[in-house]
Amino acid sequence: DVRHGPILYLEDVSVSFDGFKAINDLNLTIDDGELRCIIGPNGAGKTTMMDIITGKTRPDHGQVWFGSRHNLLTMNEPEIATLGIGRKFQKPTVFEALSVFENLELAMSADKRVMPTLVARLSGEARDRIDEVLEMIGLQTERDRAAGILSHGQKQWLEIGMLLMQRPRLLLVDEPVAGMTEQEMERTGELLTSLAGKQSVVVVEHDMGFVRSIARKVTVLHQGSVLAEGSMDQVSSDPRVVEVYLGE
Ligand code: ADP
Repeated sequence: DVRHGPILYLEDVSVSFDGFKAINDLNLTIDDGELRCIIGPNGAGKTTMMDIITGKTRPDHGQVWFGSRHNLLTMNEPEIATLGIGRKFQKPTVFEALSVFENLELAMSADKRVMPTLVARLSGEARDRIDEVLEMIGLQTERDRAAGILSHGQKQWLEIGMLLMQRPRLLLVDEPVAGMTEQEMERTGELLTSLAGKQSVVVVEHDMGFVRSIARKVTVLHQGSVLAEGSMDQVSSDPRVVEVYLGE
């Protein structure tokens, strides 16, 4: 049930820190159901861009829209989160002493839209969702194991699963494969591609091989704005992109 049209729309967005333009007239459109990779050298503005989308950083000017109805610049961080924008930071933050199942359960009850009094009544539905998410992240056989004994890759998938419990419409994922084995990277690629379509996914990633393996469309950020956009083949043969990466 992919809705067409943009899920996220940034127009002429700028933000300065002490006079330094970290984001400089940034224009970005993410289509509903799309899997987009954002690449760019250190300091290009990738983190600041994610901070602007989630409401952590307020731009000096420009427009940021979620779908066609939600002007994100009129909303604060918690309000934006309730629209269904989930963010995964680079380091996994799971509750190590709790089981995989309990981590997912907790992530669901953190949904403030579910009144505590309804939790008991919804528990059948909640369990179904947990099973569904366990299958999506491939951790069915680990469900009763403590999260602390999972591998690094498994912890990353669990954290993605925790975000999925809230049924986000847009997932922002920061460097998901850093520190992963080849096999874990492959599995992560499968997971992220399988999520796209049902929700939109924006991945910031440094590993070019990984980006090439998952992305249909890549956006290259440089000095706070879009330097190039297109398929990995298109952007990697763009002389401006080559220059920026050689100069790193
Ligand atoms: P990336 O994630 O692509 O490496 P960032 O968004 O972290 O880039 O940073 C973009 C630029 O803005 C960098 O030059 C960084 O030093 C600067 N910057 C980011 N956040 C702040 C801040 N809170 N205060 C001052 N400078 C910042």
